[in-house]
Amino acid sequence: MAKTPLNILIVDDQVGIRYLLEILLQEAGHNTSTAENGLEAVEAVKEGNFDLVFMDIRMPVMDGIEALQKLKMISSSVEVVMMTANNTEEAVNQSLEGGALKCLAKPFDVEDIRQTVEEFIWFREIKREEMKNSCAI
Ligand SMILES: [Mg+2]
Repeated sequence: MAKTPLNILIVDDQVGIRYLLEILLQEAGHNTSTAENGLEAVEAVKEGNFDLVFMDIRMPVMDGIEALQKLKMISSSVEVVMMTANNTEEAVNQSLEGGALKCLAKPFDVEDIRQTVEEFIWFREIKREEMKNSCAI
């Protein structure tokens, strides 16, 4: 079965992380855009149609937690994966309470990213099935 390419937004203030994720996700056949902070991410989601966002937590201008809350208000369908080097309980809780799909600890490897994308696709299928079933009488 051919995979449908996803539109993925990568948000991190570190250029190296943005570059690494772009390479990995493009090699997997997905379309990528990047943003350097939460504010840019909010603007991008207002204008674009994204399936998935990889969002750093610690960023200048607007951090990832605030941006997550704003994204969830702008788009009901976008899913967000948070990324943090300080994978504290507080960061994980704030992410999940804000509606993030998961929290990814930095440093991550290629397999973590692949697995996260697979989890997103699986999660989206389940949501679609649930919506279909809720329409059925
Ligand atoms: Mg950062």
